This record gives sequence, C-alpha cells and structure tokens, in this order.
Amino acid sequence: MVKITLDGITKKFGDFTALNNITLEIEDKEFIALLGPSGSGKSTLLYTIAGIYKPTSGRIYFDGRDVTEVPPKDRNVGLVFQNWALYPHMKVFKNIAFPLELKKVPKEEIEKKVREVAKMLHIDHLLDRYPWQLSGGQQQRVAIARALVKEPDVLLLDEPLSNLDALLRLEVRAELKRLQKELGITAVYVTHDQAEALAMADRIAIIRDGKILQVGDPDEVYYKPMYKFVAGFLGSPP
Ligand code: ADP
Ligand code: MG
Repeated sequence: MVKITLDGITKKFGDFTALNNITLEIEDKEFIALLGPSGSGKSTLLYTIAGIYKPTSGRIYFDGRDVTEVPPKDRNVGLVFQNWALYPHMKVFKNIAFPLELKKVPKEEIEKKVREVAKMLHIDHLLDRYPWQLSGGQQQRVAIARALVKEPDVLLLDEPLSNLDALLRLEVRAELKRLQKELGITAVYVTHDQAEALAMADRIAIIRDGKILQVGDPDEVYYKPMYKFVAGFLGSPP
C-alpha cells in the first residue's frame, strides 16, 4: 500500500530550482532514506512533505488523498530536526506533552501517553529535568518522543543523529529503527551519511541537484549504481 505519493514536485526559491520534478511513492510502514550531498534538496523535500513548504508545482498525496493544500498541523506527521529545539524553559515532561496540549487532549490522557512514549525511549526517569540537564543523546530521545506522542503515521526526520557522537549515534539509530517497525510508522529519513542510510533504510532515494537519481533497496543502489555519481557517493565496489 502506498502511504505518500509525490507527483512531479518542483520547488523554486526565486529563480533557483531546489526540487526538480520529483516523483516518488513511499510505501506504508516503509523506512526510506533520502540520501544526498549537502545542498541537494533533501531538507526542502522533507519540509514539502511536512507541508512547511508548498510546492511550486506538483501534488502530494497521503493515502491517496490530495494534501497539497493541507497545513502541517493537519497532516498527522511527526518531525524531528537535527538541532533538537526542545523548549528550554519547559521540563522534559512538558516538552513531550506540548503537542497534545495544543490539541486540547484531556490531562489524564496526556499523562498516560507521555509516560508511555518516554518509557519506550528509556527516558521515563528524566521527565522532571530541564533539557540543559540532559546529554545530547537524551535530548534527542526527548525530541523523538515529542514527535511520536501524537501517534503520527508518518515520521519525518532531518539528520536527527548528526549531532551525536559515534557511539550514541549507533545506539539511537537502533532504537529508532526498532520503534519505527514496532509502531508501524512510515519513516522518511534525511541524511548525507551513506553508512547510516545503508544500515537503516528499507529503500534509499539518492538525491542530487533537486532530482532523484536512483531509488532502490540498499543492496541494489550499492551494488548496481545507475550513475557514476551514485557509485562514487556510496563507495560502491568497482
Ligand atoms: P540539503 O538538505 O540537501 O542540504 P536543502 O534542501 O537545505 O539541501 O537546500 C537545497 C538548496 O535549496 C540549497 O541550494 C539551498 O541553499 C536552497 N534553499 C533551501 N531553502 C531555501 C530557502 N528558504 N530560500 C532560498 N534557498 C533555499
Ligand atoms: Mg538539510
């Protein structure tokens, strides 16, 4: 089943074309990586899926429904950014609860959901702390918890682990992947890290200059790169 359809998405900033006629189908419960060098348009594509950017042309469908004009808050997507942007003046509990408070969810239900998601991410002992009292890895878990608490069916992640040191990155990577499968969420994961994409994704879409060059499972893109650029970028064997 197709969850997200991108149909000829073009995004221009003035005269500059950041996304050039992107067409892609993302399967339900799939973990897809958008992989490409810096400036290739990955974040722009992710924010367009989120509804933060409106495409200059092209349509976006969720579950076959045209959402091109639907604002971000009505798309049921969870967003995790590279710079975690937790609210510094709010404790962890409140940080995670915030999206539910905005939606006027009853207090007892918020309490239950926050504790549930905090437990899943092993941060339930940190709910009473402020963000500055947490390590980088813990902060990133809070950001993931905040994105998951609304039970989104799509999780959009923009280089979420790039500020973590190598060991933590592996740990949160595994955690994220486990949760995504367990919860049955469709994940779109932006990264410029080839190893990360190859290790985590069900499929990888390679992006350069606002275009998708190749889409396939990790083996396919690694062993059968369709372009010299893809082979070079992935370090494929000759
Ligand atoms: P990536 O995430 O792959 O590094 P981006 O999607 O952030 O790339 O950016 C793609 C291109 O679009 C870059 O050349 C960038 O400078 C340009 N760009 C991104 N956002 C804007 C914006 N709001 N206004 C103008 N240009 C932008
Ligand atoms: Mg980016």
